[in-house]
Amino acid sequence: MSVDSRSGELFMITSDCTHCGVCEFMCAQGAIREAPNQFVVRRQHCNGCAECVPFCPVRAIVPASEFAQRQKQTRKAELKAILG
Ligand code: SF4
Ligand code: SF4
Repeated sequence: MSVDSRSGELFMITSDCTHCGVCEFMCAQGAIREAPNQFVVRRQHCNGCAECVPFCPVRAIVPASEFAQRQKQTRKAELKAILG
């Protein structure tokens, strides 16, 4: 399994992704691919370099350990927007 040399973690993309495609272009490993509703990191190709992270305009690329918390925050915000 590939890991981030700094954190020891893989990276994932949350549903905050706005489908801009910048990260796919910036990843030298070709690890990021377009999926139906957003872009995704292919774990088997990601080397954990984190170079894609600063290019995401909505900070949707996060270490795997932060993924669940970020998704929770995003869902809360979406629910708040719907319910007011
Ligand atoms: S840069 Fe961010 S918003 Fe753009 S496709 Fe990648 S994850 Fe999604
Ligand atoms: S962490 Fe590195 S290898 Fe993994 S998706 Fe981002 S730029 Fe590509």
